[in-house]
Amino acid sequence: MAGGPTEDDSLIATWRDAIEEPAIVDLIDQLHAEAHRHIDAQAPVCVASGRCCRFEQFGHRLFVTGLETALTLSRIERTVTTEDVNGARTDGNCPFQLERLCSIHESRPLACRLFFCDAGADAWMPHLSQDLHNRLRSLHDLWSIPYRYGEWRDMLAMFAADPR
Ligand code: SF4
Repeated sequence: MAGGPTEDDSLIATWRDAIEEPAIVDLIDQLHAEAHRHIDAQAPVCVASGRCCRFEQFGHRLFVTGLETALTLSRIERTVTTEDVNGARTDGNCPFQLERLCSIHESRPLACRLFFCDAGADAWMPHLSQDLHNRLRSLHDLWSIPYRYGEWRDMLAMFAADPR
């Protein structure tokens, strides 16, 4: 017997509906723009090594909100399947990493924009990340959007299990 909608299905539907609201998308885009203003001012070194997206090798995890995941997936051409996510887990990277580069650069979530492996970024990146993330969280409260924050591939897997 087929099961009914799960809690995850309901969350995903709510986030997909939320990103149909231009004001919500504008607020997220403003956070991205602010991140880039700070990054431009700090000018961290990036040699496009791709290490930041090879999570297991580099020993870090990328966390995103469900709302951001919905927005990112709405802005890209491709569909992400469960097999894509499992393959990335096996390879220790992100399903969007192509060679050393990000294949969805313009649509990547906030945490991807903020993370730099340049040790000099430790002086400002954590504070900036926390501030922008707090505001991202406030946006959920303001618009009564359910909040969930999880590891990037876990979030992608959640959406892959509920394709449109
Ligand atoms: S979305 Fe792009 S920047 Fe973010 S982890 Fe994946 S490949 Fe890296």
